[in-house]
Amino acid sequence: MAKYLKKDDLGSWLKELGETYKVIAPVEEGDAVVFRRLTDERTLRIDRQATQGPKGVLFPACEELVSFKYVKDPENPEKTKVEVKETVEAEPTLIFGARPCDARGFDVFDGAFTKCAVKDNYYMARREQAIVVSLACTKTETTCFCNWVGGSPDGTGGSDVLLTPVTGGYLVEAVTDKGEALMGGKLLSDADDARQAEAKKLLQEAKDSLREAPDFDCMPEQLYALFDNMDFWEKQSAKCISCGACTYLCPTCHCFNITDEQQGKEGSRIRSWDNCMSHMFTNEASGHNPRPTKAYRLKNRVGHKFCYFPDMHDGHIACVGCGRCIKSCPVALDIREVVTAAKECRLPEEETSDD
Ligand code: SF4
Ligand code: SF4
Repeated sequence: MAKYLKKDDLGSWLKELGETYKVIAPVEEGDAVVFRRLTDERTLRIDRQATQGPKGVLFPACEELVSFKYVKDPENPEKTKVEVKETVEAEPTLIFGARPCDARGFDVFDGAFTKCAVKDNYYMARREQAIVVSLACTKTETTCFCNWVGGSPDGTGGSDVLLTPVTGGYLVEAVTDKGEALMGGKLLSDADDARQAEAKKLLQEAKDSLREAPDFDCMPEQLYALFDNMDFWEKQSAKCISCGACTYLCPTCHCFNITDEQQGKEGSRIRSWDNCMSHMFTNEASGHNPRPTKAYRLKNRVGHKFCYFPDMHDGHIACVGCGRCIKSCPVALDIREVVTAAKECRLPEEETSDD
């Protein structure tokens, strides 16, 4: 049964939830909107897409994996042992105000971190303790294309609860059993038919406002076929300046680097986000770089999202169409144009057979 929450009660509802969970929500930070712990001093901003999604809540930009210490063996002073302590930090956390595309980003992370042969204990511990309360999009932006990649303005993938803005408040719907646990609060009343009908109408309008989705069924094959066509990738990547904004803001990018930081006999093994658009990403110790130019790097980024990841994860495209990489790219490189060009690119054998 859908519930209704008055707009004026949203703050009290989040405060109530804050007694059980660490509540993380989109808040103002300068000109940006970013996900931070919600406090009385911070201003909640759910009227626009956050500059960066909530990926850092479950996959922090920088985290200690283990701490280590060199200790001498008193029985054998010549020998030194290393004591290692794993640092897995997780607590009940509520992610509020994620957009459906951002929540679907967690589905991609689940594929990469929990469904492969090697599981990521750090991510899994945080994911298990997290509950995601998403906010459906009744307004879309020109950069949104969730409908191209299997999503929609009211998509529920990765969410536990979905809120839809309606007149005077929100329609509140549980998506998972975890989400059902939030439906009993005294601030929630049963939603009447009129509110449910309004939500449906607003969401249909939002869906209709999106550009028509191309058929991407041919994409993995098409991208494999373009693998050695470096002229195509040179052209697509010509204006890229390798700044990495697209990767850091992307809710599905999950590459990381691991480094050791040591002072004296003690240190930490740190994991930090990495950026596949940087020339250093695949630079090998020998100096050889298998992705030596921007063209190789863009080919990898697009190929990973629309070809290699879907191949390994039941066709699941590793882009959720949030449009942040389009909005924030300083040279306006548009991933929609790249995949459309790849889809429409005539392959040499097709040209030959037509002639
Ligand atoms: S944001 Fe634009 S310029 Fe920067 S690395 Fe990405 S595609 Fe290149
Ligand atoms: S590739 Fe761009 S549009 Fe797709 S999920 Fe990442 S930031 Fe969003």
